[in-house]
Amino acid sequence: MIPVAEPWIDERELELASECIRSGWVSSLGKYIGEFEKRFSEYCHARHGVATTNGTTALHLALCALDIGPGDDVIVPTLTFIATANAVRYVGANPVFVDSEPYTWCLDPNKIEDKITPRTRAIIPVHLYGHPCDIDPILKLAKRHNLHVVEDAAEAHGAEYKGRKVGSFGDISCFSFYGNKIITTGEGGMCLTSDEKLAQKMRMLRDQAMDPQKRYWHTDIGYNYRMTNIQAAIGVAQMEKIDRIITIKRRNAKAYNTLLENVPGISIPPEAEWAKNVYWMYSILLEEDASISRDDLMLKLKEDGIDTRPFFYPMHTQPPYAKNRCSLPVAEDLSQRGINLPSSPLLKEREIEYIVQSLLKHLRKLA
Ligand SMILES: *Cc1c(COP(=O)(O)O)cnc(C)c1O
Repeated sequence: MIPVAEPWIDERELELASECIRSGWVSSLGKYIGEFEKRFSEYCHARHGVATTNGTTALHLALCALDIGPGDDVIVPTLTFIATANAVRYVGANPVFVDSEPYTWCLDPNKIEDKITPRTRAIIPVHLYGHPCDIDPILKLAKRHNLHVVEDAAEAHGAEYKGRKVGSFGDISCFSFYGNKIITTGEGGMCLTSDEKLAQKMRMLRDQAMDPQKRYWHTDIGYNYRMTNIQAAIGVAQMEKIDRIITIKRRNAKAYNTLLENVPGISIPPEAEWAKNVYWMYSILLEEDASISRDDLMLKLKEDGIDTRPFFYPMHTQPPYAKNRCSLPVAEDLSQRGINLPSSPLLKEREIEYIVQSLLKHLRKLA
């Protein structure tokens, strides 16, 4: 089976992780945590990095640090992974879902203002499937309405908006290092910020809100969201290859694009003129006039040994958020037509050709 995602891990990760194990620094003290935070934050041009246990806790920590809580509304795109919305609930706030922009599939800046009320405190734009969202108009809106911006960049390490990497636009940005993300630490996450106070607050909350000057004195109810030294060591090894990973993912996307761009019934993933897409997932849309349904096509591909994923279900249609039910037609439509094809950096060119052949065969057969 050709997998949708597969981490690129080799001797270097093994070497650095082994060093932690041999030295006994296996928990959340050790030199690699600071080093990973420094390398990753510098890579994204943010001043501070606060490593966490995963991307979901990074989002939770960010909202805690911004004092978002009960009675507050937070604007979230409906087409995202559920962690974005859940983090809002963890702090007792209410996610307000906004539709997608049809070309980039990300939060539509033109549909935000209608949803802003006196309760609105923040916007969480998500750089979906590796494509940055159109962040300038979102920052402008946030400024005008005095809202915080938390970038959910869990799927877009290294993606660029107008030549600048995502992760330094919001008050805080959140990344995930889950096994299928652009780089991985197994499980893991990080908050980036250029605000010293927010960084300090997140460091404290991550460590049970313990007073850094006074051991076992807790100024607040905090969390244990600390990353381990072993995870951070893997992260440091991954940072040595992040640029190669992104180059390969972009090269693979280009190979797919060349083979798929003129195929009727399919549209290839976006790359806006102001964007550098890192193609976390190589995602296609099945057009309405395609001869096979999205789900049948995925089954057929599976029979050919090709694993795929459907797009996320919009948050406003999911059971925990049914109360917020409304119509967000662009996201609903994308969600039903989107397929993520195998996108691993380990994918071979002949595998891409095989995947495309299989796709064409099933699209044609039923035409
Ligand atoms: C993966 C992901 C997360 C959560 O990251 P975990 O490390 O799995 O907790 C959050 N938001 C988005 C958009 C994601 O894709």
